Amino acid sequence: MHKVIIIGSGCAGLTAAIYAARADLKPLVLDGYEPGGQLALTTMVENFPGFPEGILGPELIENTRKQAQRFGTEFRSGAVTSVDLSKRPFKIEAGKESYECEALIVAAGASARMLGIESEMHLLGHGVSTCATCDGYFFRDRDILVVGGGDTAMEEATFLTKFAKSVTILHRRNEFRATKIMLDRAHANEKIKFLTPYVIDEVHDVTKKSVELVTVRNVDTNEKKTIPTEGVFIAIGHDPNTKVFQGKLKMDDAGYLLTDHGSQTNVEGVFAAGDVQDHRYRQAVTAAGSGCMAAIDAEKFLTGLKA
Ligand code: NDP
Repeated sequence: MHKVIIIGSGCAGLTAAIYAARADLKPLVLDGYEPGGQLALTTMVENFPGFPEGILGPELIENTRKQAQRFGTEFRSGAVTSVDLSKRPFKIEAGKESYECEALIVAAGASARMLGIESEMHLLGHGVSTCATCDGYFFRDRDILVVGGGDTAMEEATFLTKFAKSVTILHRRNEFRATKIMLDRAHANEKIKFLTPYVIDEVHDVTKKSVELVTVRNVDTNEKKTIPTEGVFIAIGHDPNTKVFQGKLKMDDAGYLLTDHGSQTNVEGVFAAGDVQDHRYRQAVTAAGSGCMAAIDAEKFLTGLKA
């Protein structure tokens, strides 16, 4: 039986762990599918306060993890497969392991969206990627595509020009969701080209287990064409990791958990922090801040139980 279990080890979960551990709650962190969350998959973070020269996302997350460990946080790997929040202690199952806790902090984050075409799953890791930081190195001197029109697409495309011969940003609209500074940076990069309004219909060649070309379709005219490419980076946003909480915790239409009075969910003793409950700010610093709030709220809740 744990006093506090934290689901997720991104910026929010680890900050919650630091605060809970320092409050002597001996938190257990369940790592989930993507240990370290989105920060583990980014490059330079230039807007986290306290780092005038910026810091690499993986380094920031590793430091935060060590900080949580230093105060006695326990870590277990494994993704949560089911939860019973109908009464306390709450029950959490992660594969064959089951855990019980008096308070639960959900900081399960959000995962990369996929295009929804069959070939992308067959070719994931064989030329299709959702993480430029992880896989960019493999595309040295190649012609590659980045799909998306938000800041992630601009950031990944710009990063990939360090390796690739050319990067084409393919987006389904002529307008971009990305902020002006990120879009301007991509426009100014001579290795980056833009292709709009297009979507990918298919990535080839599944039989050869490598990316050789894509069939794209003009959204306005329906005209199709093929483009030779050696890599496809999908950068079209994220979905909250809340499937196991469906019907158990209140969420909005997109699946983000709803919180009230700080980090409180609709179930007493269950708190939410980070991208799993935030589709507006989605920043490392706001995730860290909400992790702190969730740990303080959990501590107050547990103190109230004792009183
Ligand atoms: P966004 O939701 O902002 O953008 C997603 C993009 O992908 C949109 O252009 C969208 O098109 C497109 N898209 C979504 N689904 C599909 C699909 N099925 N097929 C084709 N295209 C699709 O996500 P981001 O990850 O880019 O950004 C998330 C948040 O993180 C933002 O607030 C952003 O500012 C922030 N961020 C900040 C960074 C920084 O400051 N360094 C870096 C990265 C992210 P459409 O526009 O038509 O909906």
